Amino acid sequence: MVRDEEISRLISYVKGLGLTVTFCTSKEEDDSAAWYLDNTGIMINKQRNKSKIDTVLTLIHEIGHAKHNLWEKNREIDPTLENAIDHVDKAEELEQDSKKKQRKVLLNHEIGGTKYWNEIYHETNMKFPMWKLDLAKEYDVWQYEVFYETGSYPKYKERRKKHKELTKKYRKANV
Ligand SMILES: [Zn+2]
Repeated sequence: MVRDEEISRLISYVKGLGLTVTFCTSKEEDDSAAWYLDNTGIMINKQRNKSKIDTVLTLIHEIGHAKHNLWEKNREIDPTLENAIDHVDKAEELEQDSKKKQRKVLLNHEIGGTKYWNEIYHETNMKFPMWKLDLAKEYDVWQYEVFYETGSYPKYKERRKKHKELTKKYRKANV
């Protein structure tokens, strides 16, 4: 119940920012969520979010991008970011290495969004423990750092290992 209420408050918050929220339940869709580059909406793929807390954290992640765009990009499409996404997509399609400089743009975009997570957490009166937000932040940024450094995202096994490690770290500090 608490999680459902958090989700519904986050949805209201997104709407208040002037974006739409759509939920998709397609197994074919690989992304767990998406924020649209023109800042018109957020998509959450329920199939790729295992639990309600995952959905909550995913929403906060995407809302971070929305706020970053609102307050730092004047609600306009960031051409540098658009180019970087196109470049990385194309490289992947052609099975070529992407340029590190372009991956850096993506990393900075992700870090830019995370700067808003804490205010979203407070403004929407989230009830889950704060350390889960900090954990998710470190985990998400880590994935993009690995991508920036190596050109590919960490594999399932690495991700699990990192998640375990971080859970241990944050749990220990918060009991
Ligand atoms: Zn993101």
